[in-house]
Formats: sequence, structure tokens, C-alpha cells
Amino acid sequence: MQHFPVFMAVAGRRIVVAGGGEAACAKLRLLLRTEAQIHVFATKPALEIRRWAEAGRLVLHRRALEAPDLSGAVLAYGAEEDRAADGQLAEWARAAGVPHNIVDDLDRSAFLTPALVDRDPVVVAIGTEGAAPVLARRIKADLEERLPTSLGMLARAAAGFRRAAEALPAGAARRAFWSAFFETAGPEAARNGGAGEVADALRRLLGRHLARAPRTGFVEFVGAGPGDPDLLTLRARRALDRADVVVHDRLVTAGVLDLARREALLIDVGKEGFGPSTPQEAIHALLVEHARAGRHVVRLKGGDPSVFGRLEEEIAAVESAGLAWSVVPGITAASAAAAAIGQPLTARGRNAGLRLLTGHDAAGLAEHDWRALARPGEVAAIYMGRRAARRMQGRLLMHGADPSTPVSVVENAGRAGQRVLATTLARLEPDLSDAGMSGPVLILYGLAPRLAGAALPGLEEVAS
Ligand code: SAH
Repeated sequence: MQHFPVFMAVAGRRIVVAGGGEAACAKLRLLLRTEAQIHVFATKPALEIRRWAEAGRLVLHRRALEAPDLSGAVLAYGAEEDRAADGQLAEWARAAGVPHNIVDDLDRSAFLTPALVDRDPVVVAIGTEGAAPVLARRIKADLEERLPTSLGMLARAAAGFRRAAEALPAGAARRAFWSAFFETAGPEAARNGGAGEVADALRRLLGRHLARAPRTGFVEFVGAGPGDPDLLTLRARRALDRADVVVHDRLVTAGVLDLARREALLIDVGKEGFGPSTPQEAIHALLVEHARAGRHVVRLKGGDPSVFGRLEEEIAAVESAGLAWSVVPGITAASAAAAAIGQPLTARGRNAGLRLLTGHDAAGLAEHDWRALARPGEVAAIYMGRRAARRMQGRLLMHGADPSTPVSVVENAGRAGQRVLATTLARLEPDLSDAGMSGPVLILYGLAPRLAGAALPGLEEVAS
């Protein structure tokens, strides 16, 4: 981020605009929404500006700007549409320590003016650092449609009611009250009758919420998907949005964690391969302790929580503590890896079944399992298979698997840094070690990448 967005206090302060043409008018239309004192310097002001001046909405000086005019200003706009004149303003503003904006000139501006969605006091500012004004306009149009025009009134009513709402305990109960107000009760009252009706609605809603029994905590086991926040389900996003506590694994990416409610407590219980980890019992204790305290606990697991995620043990712990729980499924690494190589996990006439295996347990596989897997046409998604790859390769070959069976290894499937290694059973090692993959890898045994399709973004063959 090269520009940091802030909301500046401008009520009653001076904002200076130099210029009287279309560029000045465009900025003034925005500035006039504020409670700032606006001073315009223009030798030939447009009709619109003269009208604003007559209506007392701004002060018009019919002359060119001079250096002393900037003193005491909080912002200055160079809108002369003349390089030399605007350059002069920039120089004076710098000397006077006044942040300045030269219209349509990113390089000479100290700040940028964002596109605005105005539901005062709710204001959304959209910026693209000058890179894509068209995109900013599209986002603005999108938000204009989405945010009800009554939002400003609701926000003002809420601000006035904040004290009264403190009768509810801080945290989940108070949030539930405000959600109910902004999502349903508020907009409904605004539609039916305006500000008076909204104030009544607030009082009625508070009464109902105060009468409610205190909420008991619960645990949501949530699939975080393979890593890209785009691959989260809407339900997972909602859970993160409401969480009081998020207990997460190492596989969960920063991009996903960013979506957790800002006040939520994030607890990392990740383990690194075979390295040190939070003991499973300690994780159980954490879940139970926080849920018992009435908190909404999100147990966030990479991929799908039901795939190699010790879900059974954690549910049992929560259940035996007498607490409520639910599961939000996620996209498992095998699905993301299949998408990366452009192959279905099952295909008519090729493989009717799919095995999900973990490399950790490979040592414990019985002879008949290896024999079954070695049969032609078998497909398996192997999790945590990097270290076990050589052993699995040996066992499969020993049990008669075809050495030319295709194997695809996908590193960082469905997240930044996705790489695909296309190899065969015979070459799996040393190819896998040679590829030097350090991110999480999923091994798709029995599947080759569909290399013919150019429509595979992010597919990169590192060896073959
Ligand atoms: N519950 C998870 C799996 C947990 S086991 C899921 O459904 O995906 C952890 C293993 O999953 C890793 O060792 C790796 O083999 C695999 N894995 C998880 N995320 C991955 C990703 N983005 N890319 C490749 N493999 C991944």
C-alpha cells in the first residue's frame, strides 16, 4: 500500500481550491458534502461555482491563488488544469505543510481523493492508488446499489442509542443486538416510517434482547479450504465474522485469518510436519474452556475439517463437555489439487473410486491394501506424503504396480505459489526430492496433469 486511507477532521476548517473549470467543479461537488469552509480561487469561475458562492456554500475569490492563501488550510487542491500554476500550488503547499492534491496528477500529489459512497455518517472510500479508476467506479456503483439509502439514518440512530445498548453484556450479546438492528429491525422501521419509527424499533429490540437467556458458547469446526480466501465458503466467512475465538492450524493462511472479526482472539495450535505441536489434549481443553465461557469458538482447519483433521477426537471432547457444536465443510486439498491439474478425481470408465490416504499411516497399511492400490486404474490422493513417498513407491512397485503409472504432485494447491510436478511411479523419487518443494504437497497417484489445455492458470511443470 503506497497510500494509507484516513478520515480527516475538516468541519469548520479551511480547504483551498485553485481553479474555476470542470476539474474544480468535480472536486467541489465532493467537498461540498463536508462541513469544511471552502475557499475557491479563480479568475474565471464557472457558473456553477458562482451559484454556490451566491448560496453561501463556499467563499469565492476572483483572483489567482497566492502563497499566503494557504496558511491555516487543512487541504489544498490544484485544479487549474495548468501544469505551471498547479506546480506552483504544490510548491507553496509543501512549504506551508499543507497536504495537496493536483487533479489527475498522481506523481505531484501528496494525497489522492478516493471514490466515495456517501451514507453519512457511514462513508466508504475506494482507492486504487490511481491504477484503475474504472474499477473504483464499478465498486462504487456496486456498493451504491447494495447499501440502503437509509443506512446513514440508521447509523445516526445507533450512535445515539449506544449508551442504552450497554445494558446488554459486551461481546456476543451486544453484537447480536446490533446485527439484528442493522440487518432487519432498522431497515424495516426506516421503510415504514423514518427516524421516529427507528428510535421505537431500537427500544423494542433492546427489550427483547434483554429478556433473552444469556447465550451459551459453542464450537464450530470450520473448513478453511486450501488457502486462497476465495475458496472459503460463505458459511465459513460468516463464522469468522462472528467468532470470539479462532483456534487454527498452521495450514490456515494469513489471508484467511484476516477475515476473522477484528476483536477475535486468534490462537495458533499449528504443528510443523513432525515438529513440536500443541498436544491434542491441550487443543481440546482450549476449545472447551472458551466455549464454556460463553464464547463463539471457531476451530479453523485447513481444507475440510473431516479429512485428516482429528475431527472425531475434537468433537468427542466438546460433546463430552456437554457443549454444542457444528461442522462447516471446506474444500479439501485433493479437490484443489485436482483443479490444479485439470483432472476430475473420478471419471467414468477410468476410476469409479478414490482413496484418501495419509503418508503418516503408510507404514501401517496392510499387505492387501497395497495390493489393492497397485491394481491398474487406481487413484489415490495422498496427504502428508512427502516423507513417505519413497516407502510408498517401493511398496507399490513391490506389489506389482505399473512403474509408468502417472503421479502428479501439487504443492500449495489452491493458494499462492501453486506448483505441479508431473512424474511417474518409477520416478516419483528422486523427482519429488529434486523439485525441492517446501510448501504443503498433495500427491495424486494415478492421475497425470491434463497438459494439453492451455487453460490451466498457475500450472507449472517443474520436472517430468
Ligand atoms: N484437512 C486438510 C488436510 C489436513 S492434513 C484438507 O482437507 O485438505 C495436512 C496435509 O494436507 C498436508 O500435509 C498436505 O499433504 C495436504 N494439504 C493441505 N493443504 C494443502 C494445499 N493447499 N496444497 C497441497 N497440499 C495440501
